[in-house]
Amino acid sequence: MRFVPITLKHSAAKVDRRSAVRSMLLIFAAVVIAVTGMVFTALDRVGHYANQLDEERSRESVSGALQTFQRQLAATLHDYAAWDDAADHVYRSSGLVWAKRNFGAMTDNNELFDVAIIVDHTGRIVLGYSEGEPVTGSLEDYITPEVWSLLDKIRSAREGVLPEETSFTRTSRGAAAFGVALIRMKSGQLVAPQGEGRYVIFMRHLTEATVDRLANAYVLPGLRIEQPLEQKSHRVLILSPAGKPIASLRWEPRSPGNISLAQVRPLVWCAVAMVAIYFVLLFVSGSQALARLSADEEAAIKLSLTDRLSGLPNRTGLFADLSELVGTAQRSGLDVALLYLDLDGFKEVNDAYGHATGDQLIRAVSAGLAVLVGEGAVLARLGGDEFAIGFLSKNAEADAAALAERVMEFLGEPLTMGDRIAVIGCSIGIACSPLGAVAGEEVLRRADMAMYRAKEEGRGRWSAYDPAMDAEREERNRLELDLRQAIEREEISVAFQPVVDAQHMRLSGVEALARWTRQGHGPVPPDVFIPIAESTGLIDQLGLCVLRTACEALRDWPELTLAVNVSPGQFRDPAFAERVALVFQETEMDPARITLEMTETYFIQNPARARDTLNRLKKTGVHIALDDFGAGFSSVGYLRQFGFDRMKIDRSLVAAADLGGRAVDMLQATVALARSLDIPVTAEGVETNAQAVALRIAGCDQLQGFLFGKPMPIAEIARLRQREEPLFRLSGLA
Ligand code: C2E
Ligand code: CA
Ligand code: CA
Repeated sequence: MRFVPITLKHSAAKVDRRSAVRSMLLIFAAVVIAVTGMVFTALDRVGHYANQLDEERSRESVSGALQTFQRQLAATLHDYAAWDDAADHVYRSSGLVWAKRNFGAMTDNNELFDVAIIVDHTGRIVLGYSEGEPVTGSLEDYITPEVWSLLDKIRSAREGVLPEETSFTRTSRGAAAFGVALIRMKSGQLVAPQGEGRYVIFMRHLTEATVDRLANAYVLPGLRIEQPLEQKSHRVLILSPAGKPIASLRWEPRSPGNISLAQVRPLVWCAVAMVAIYFVLLFVSGSQALARLSADEEAAIKLSLTDRLSGLPNRTGLFADLSELVGTAQRSGLDVALLYLDLDGFKEVNDAYGHATGDQLIRAVSAGLAVLVGEGAVLARLGGDEFAIGFLSKNAEADAAALAERVMEFLGEPLTMGDRIAVIGCSIGIACSPLGAVAGEEVLRRADMAMYRAKEEGRGRWSAYDPAMDAEREERNRLELDLRQAIEREEISVAFQPVVDAQHMRLSGVEALARWTRQGHGPVPPDVFIPIAESTGLIDQLGLCVLRTACEALRDWPELTLAVNVSPGQFRDPAFAERVALVFQETEMDPARITLEMTETYFIQNPARARDTLNRLKKTGVHIALDDFGAGFSSVGYLRQFGFDRMKIDRSLVAAADLGGRAVDMLQATVALARSLDIPVTAEGVETNAQAVALRIAGCDQLQGFLFGKPMPIAEIARLRQREEPLFRLSGLA
């Protein structure tokens, strides 16, 4: 058989967490980048603004320097042109010497002007000096179109308008400020008639030395004169009278913004780096803590889904796995099969050999099943001695049945636990979820129910879920309800089975047995309703009711003993002994006539508490018998250990007496052992003469069974009491 392989994943949470960590990291990075970007943008803005401010200041300074330069020339020009001596000499031909000395010679090494030219009203040059020397070459080099334009302007100026103008021009020696003025009296009075005046032209070149001086005076580092350029930054254009660029003054920008930025930037980077490091450290420690936490959480989850003893998934783990299986089945068109296993003899092994051995057995079974089932299926321990196997299959029912057979075969083999060997079988319930149509929990419930059916049908077998089982479960529920009502309405009656003394076969006592006739259904056997009463807690009421009825019935027949059955469930009531004593008191029954019969289960499970209850019961004066000896695991040792007053050997052992041989030897040895401990023995289920003979020989002092009488109403016991002769005459006695 092949399972369809499955992979179960519990790692969704881990994936979630990882992506959360990743997105957190991204957010951190984005925040750091955004903050860095904002800080640097702001710094850049501040820097840029500072640069701009400085550019404007420098531009104002340079423009101011140029204006001052021009104004100085204008002032000098005014001093020389509106000068009485000049007006006196320049208009006369004899005055040329004076003009050479006072104008021409002054151009040498002069801070105020370096070119002086005098022209008459026709434009003819009267005198031309440059740097202290007469201009030898072409004077046209100095009389540029700009100069002509101002000259024309002054020549045609109306009266009353100041006949002086300054501007800039470019000569062969470079850019220069120049001025043109009419030579006149200081008072403004003209020497020649209007239109026939003489004019002086002064120039001052923007030489490198001059520019340097300007730079120093106006604190403009790197100021120099250049050809006019389109580029406008760090430059002021020098314009001709017509507004044409002649040259430009360029300065070195100080860029204070850049300087401050350069100083601040490393600090800011440092701060950003520190913040980034802080974030990284925070993130690292955070994610470490997170990883630790999630590892812890994962371990806790895993632990909560795992059974400690076997290491297999527990019930919760199985639920998780099952719902995954069902989901997969729905998607892939497969069926889910589930086997519910319950070990048959586990409780007995546990009770007989102790819990340590029981644990070993569970581990051994788990390991064996794991090997048997293999990788393709889910194997879980549901607690106690219950296991489940789930798998996906195309042919679930057949595969599940085949697997059940193999599991039973495996568990049918003897298992070794340390130095002990035990054979335990198992009962298996099977339920399927075709195409995943039945939910995981429901499949589990169905498999559980099927397993109970297998148990009921005699263990060591498997059974598949059938919807009829649900109906039966319901019927059981109704039965429980009816039983509850019957107890409340006191409809439980008591039958009495005769017990004879083995010596004379005369009636020596009775055993009280509960009887229930269910309304509308007829009699229900005690083997059916007693287990229901036990599992629902109704047994407390029922047991005391039987005891009270029996006591009342037997009160007036002091020669008869009375045996009453007690269920382990009744022992759980801490006041049980007191309640029993109260019944004796109320019914005025002598406790010494009564024997309470108990099976060994409770003594094996809770030895300490059992002994305690037993002692308290015995204090009321009642006797205690160990019932069904030979049907379970009890040994003669128990009799002594718990101080039983009587032993009742089970019908199964009695029936073996018919077979003779070893069975009879065993029977005889058991009875002999009990008698050696001074414990009297009752044999029950005696049906044949041969059994009765063998039991009497073995040493039983009381016999009970259909041979002497079935359980009967009290009235019949009353008649039997009256009989003188024995209830049965044994034949074949030696
Ligand atoms: P038990 O205590 O072992 O009772 C003896 C059972 O064996 C009775 O079955 C009785 O009818 C049956 N029996 C007696 N002699 C023979 C015989 O020769 N051949 C065969 N085949 N059977 C014989 P019953 O009345 O059906 O009771 C079954 C069991 O139900 C009892 O087994 C006892 O464990 C339980 N039970 C009955 N009444 C009460 C009760 O009031 N309280 C408690 N706790 N359990 C009760
Ligand atoms: Ca009994
Ligand atoms: Ca019995």
